[in-house]
Amino acid sequence: MPPPGAFACRSADGASCPRDGDGSGPVFASAWGPTRATALAVSTRAFAAFDPKSPLRAHTIERRAVGPRDVAIEILWSGVCHSDIHQARDEWGGSKFPMVPGHEIIGRVTKVGAGVKKVKVGELAGIGCMVDSCRVCPQCERGTEQYCEDGASWTYNSFERDKTTPTYGGYSTDVVVDEAFALRIDPRLDPASAAPLLCAGVTMFSPLRHWDVKPGQRVGVIGLGGLGHMAVKLARAMGAEVTVFSTSEKKRADAIRLGASELVVSSHEPSMGKLAGAYDLVLDTVSAPHDLSTFTRLLKTDATLVLLGIPDKPFELPAGSLIGRRRSVAGSVIGGIAETQEMLDFCAEHGVTADVEIIPIEDINLAYERMLKSDVRYRFVIDVDSLRK
Ligand SMILES: [Zn+2]
Ligand SMILES: [Zn+2]
Repeated sequence: MPPPGAFACRSADGASCPRDGDGSGPVFASAWGPTRATALAVSTRAFAAFDPKSPLRAHTIERRAVGPRDVAIEILWSGVCHSDIHQARDEWGGSKFPMVPGHEIIGRVTKVGAGVKKVKVGELAGIGCMVDSCRVCPQCERGTEQYCEDGASWTYNSFERDKTTPTYGGYSTDVVVDEAFALRIDPRLDPASAAPLLCAGVTMFSPLRHWDVKPGQRVGVIGLGGLGHMAVKLARAMGAEVTVFSTSEKKRADAIRLGASELVVSSHEPSMGKLAGAYDLVLDTVSAPHDLSTFTRLLKTDATLVLLGIPDKPFELPAGSLIGRRRSVAGSVIGGIAETQEMLDFCAEHGVTADVEIIPIEDINLAYERMLKSDVRYRFVIDVDSLRK
């Protein structure tokens, strides 16, 4: 599966921030005042990458004591995103080690601060790709914290707002998060298969909403991996007619089962030619290099192709493939907190979750190898109880 975005703090905060605290109990500022981060910290089991080359292995981290606006979550399920691999292997640069990956977290609330209103002890809660943001910039004000102008605090491989205290993700037994970045999980959702909604799901939901997909519209999805399979399910649930574009016929039956009306092999020129100008929105989930103009020609006048994957080489795109029909090529990464909640509630309403393979934590390195071969249908999810043994 392609990464949801090279958003994991490489340029946002990786270059400009100190790597480690001084161990004397760093203070991090939140919108509600400073909190002593390491006072009464809780020792927590985790799995970590210690450098870009070695397999992940057992580690112990500290989670902060629960503050007045904090939610403590006993993690039950943690999805495995392709961006976990990119960051654990430092493929985007600036990775901070030891690193505890994981930003598709679902668990049970074990403790809440006195001021917490969003969730109660015993309820399910989730955490996606962010655990904080500046909360005052124009992007945070309008609920697009993922584009925070001061750089969001990503769930791992990043820093809390003090830009000193490292963040650690979901390959761990427990986590503490400010309630503003906790998500409610509807009990109708199966928590294991809902975990990937927190990154893969919202990555696809956000562009479908932003470009206002309506029932009856035609949506193209390029690539049927972790992101693509969510795109098919979500677009279908919104009433769109969905076509999957793939490099081979192999996933045709899966595409139809997931809700697509057809799968088209993108190298088959006669089929592609017939579909020119037919689509209201095309979601490109592929992170391998590919020819964009093969797909921009699918767009109707004024329609948009949205990039969600990050190929490691720039695209070449003839201007003529856009200007004749005022087409656009855009990019998008995850969604804001309110939109993530909207997506989770939409999924509960429409019975949408990811197709998952459950693994114990000790299989995480094998899972990475299989993901690199696209050998997963369609998302690995760690049973975090395996970390408690
Ligand atoms: Zn992700
Ligand atoms: Zn902000």
